[in-house]
Amino acid sequence: MIQNPCILTDVTKCIGCEQCVAACKKINGLPAEDAPPRPGNSVDGLSADRWTTIIRRPDNHFVRKQCRHCAEPACVSVCPVGALQKTPEGPVIYDKSICMGCRYCMMSCPYGIPHYEWNSAAPSVRKCIMCYGNLKSGKISEPACVTACPQKATLFGTRDAMLAEARERLQAEPGKYVQTIWGEHEVGGTSVLLIADIPLEFLALNQGHPLGDKPLPERTWAALKPVPFEFVGMGLLMGGVYWIIERRKKLALEAGGAAAKDTRGEAGHEK
Ligand code: SF4
Ligand code: SF4
Ligand code: SF4
Repeated sequence: MIQNPCILTDVTKCIGCEQCVAACKKINGLPAEDAPPRPGNSVDGLSADRWTTIIRRPDNHFVRKQCRHCAEPACVSVCPVGALQKTPEGPVIYDKSICMGCRYCMMSCPYGIPHYEWNSAAPSVRKCIMCYGNLKSGKISEPACVTACPQKATLFGTRDAMLAEARERLQAEPGKYVQTIWGEHEVGGTSVLLIADIPLEFLALNQGHPLGDKPLPERTWAALKPVPFEFVGMGLLMGGVYWIIERRKKLALEAGGAAAKDTRGEAGHEK
């Protein structure tokens, strides 16, 4: 699997056929047709059963939406138990067996990506995982949604290669494209990039305003503190959650320190 994988979507090429959506459902074993509307379904069409969607905008613009696989994901930073993880290669994945259902990830994501299985007896948070397991095992060489696109509106490669491709397209046709690569710097950079001939600020949950370039994790905890308990849906005290997060960080730091110590020890032994 390549390091720092990235998906580039060129909105000007998308025809809205939704073959990417169908391919995503197929490879991830999601229902072919969405269940009837239920609490948690969003206006953009994303749901626990639909990890990528096509937003229909005026004048035949079709805008693909999926997890952006942020370089510094807010969802990972707020998860008290580490169920959401940033993998060493880059994609942000989810471990159902650890999730305790607090849904902080849903509240923290600047793009409104994670969705909850509201009508499941054993609910999970669901979202695009950039086909991580299948890419890692070598079963596929690019995400299913990319392979399925008949227009090559979405491409796959390293983030550097996708940025270079995006820049080339913007330079080649400056009158056609808005001169922005969405995701290049936004919230510290993302591994799903978009270029388009229309503004794409509406993809963020920031009332149409740009999100800015600073990573969100540092700011997210402060924003989550005032969220009412009834929305969280459990009587978990904030202080307790904060304690767990801090403890998780401390343990990770200690583990990192111990690993470094071991490595130094081994190096010394080899000499
Ligand atoms: S887009 Fe949202 S769900 Fe995806 S990695 Fe970023 S914060 Fe997490
Ligand atoms: S990368 Fe994989 S999981 Fe994500 S939208 Fe595409 S097919 Fe679905
Ligand atoms: S498969 Fe390609 S052209 Fe069709 S909706 Fe998805 S991104 Fe657009």
